[in-house]
Amino acid sequence: MDFRPTEEQELLLESVREFMAQECSDEYMRRCDEEGRPPYELFKKMVDAGFGLLGCPESVGGTPVDTLTLMLVKEEFLRLGGPMQCLTNIFHLDMMEAYGTAEQMEACMKEIRDGRMAFCSGFSEPQAGSDSHAILTSYERRGGKIVINGHKTFISSAALTSHMSCLARDFSREDEAFTMFFVPMDAPGVTIKPLHKLGWHMNPTYEVYLENVEVEDKDIIGTEGGAFKQLMKNYEVERLMMAATILGMAECAYEDSARYANQRVQFGKPIGSKQLIQEKIVRMKIKIMNMKNLVYQCAWEKDNGISIRNSSALCKLYCAQAGNEVIDDALQIMGGLGYTDDCRISRLWRDARNYRIGGGTDEIMIHIAGRGLLKEIGV
Ligand SMILES: Cc1cc2nc3c(=O)[nH]c(=O)nc-3n(C[C@H](O)[C@H](O)[C@H](O)COP(=O)(O)OP(=O)(O)OC[C@H]3O[C@@H](n4cnc5c(N)ncnc54)[C@H](O)[C@@H]3O)c2cc1C
Repeated sequence: MDFRPTEEQELLLESVREFMAQECSDEYMRRCDEEGRPPYELFKKMVDAGFGLLGCPESVGGTPVDTLTLMLVKEEFLRLGGPMQCLTNIFHLDMMEAYGTAEQMEACMKEIRDGRMAFCSGFSEPQAGSDSHAILTSYERRGGKIVINGHKTFISSAALTSHMSCLARDFSREDEAFTMFFVPMDAPGVTIKPLHKLGWHMNPTYEVYLENVEVEDKDIIGTEGGAFKQLMKNYEVERLMMAATILGMAECAYEDSARYANQRVQFGKPIGSKQLIQEKIVRMKIKIMNMKNLVYQCAWEKDNGISIRNSSALCKLYCAQAGNEVIDDALQIMGGLGYTDDCRISRLWRDARNYRIGGGTDEIMIHIAGRGLLKEIGV
């Protein structure tokens, strides 16, 4: 096995390092986190520099790359302290390219060119988290219009995007009852309220209420009744992308804390000379190596047409847990400083926790992979 990045991948990673050194200071990230807003200016510069549309379809001016390259780039942005949302627009555009109309795609591109998310994803509801089939948001046809009613929760960027992909159900149908709509966030009947949360401050989260919101057939994404089939296309790569994100965050925390261990003197010597600190460094590194191997192998499988249904769930589960452990150890090595806002590890620590919940919880990853692995072995 050849573990080295190709020459092209190395050049791309070098350009990420140059871009981050020039455009993304730690001070800027801290400010965005404190202000509870996405780093729009950075996202705009990423689009201008060609990174913002990496992995996106050529038809919209993107630069398609293989999954492994995409994961390497994502990891590198995060290793250098970049924002967790960078490159996530590819899922939105992938879905739109496969199922959206030209008009819907253009609305997405307008947002992206301005450094925003293409749209927000409206699946979760108070009674429907892991179990998306339990949604109560309904749609029905009335007087030539489609009328949506419901309550979505945990919707990231809802107040900051022009549209929401809204999962809704036709309660008059038994089968193929779920449809995705492209709902304008300024439509009459849409109300948005902020949700306050532990971390992910750069990616604000909202409640969205839909009261008799009128849309039309042209606002359906894909086919009526086809929402879940459409969603499956994205879920596996999204899990892999989340694993690559927390991997980069863990590396960022590891490197910061290892540097600190070499510098911080207590009892007359750098704390890195103490075996209790060295043990943490060693165990953190082993976890990072394991995370890398899982992410790269899963990406390689995807690029080679091998199903990643089980491996993407295993990968996300392991990386979310190991990543949190690495970042927690990094904070411990930094002592009191690690717990302050002066140090980015405190932000990473807050942000990391959601990787065990969002995009499918640890338990749901076990549920998916557990069933799949048993089926694979058979009797
Ligand atoms: C910061 C953040 C951002 C988010 N952004 C979005 C977004 O943009 N759009 C969106 O639609 N959603 C979003 N979500 C929602 C996210 O997808 C859900 O939180 C997640 O799917 C879990 O649902 P839940 O929180 O309702 O927990 P529940 O599903 O109620 O689960 C509670 C607990 O029970 C466990 N559990 C549930 N079912 C099982 C089972 N079958 N077996 C074993 N254990 C089980 C869970 O693992 C968990 O530990 C976001 C969430 C967060 C925290």
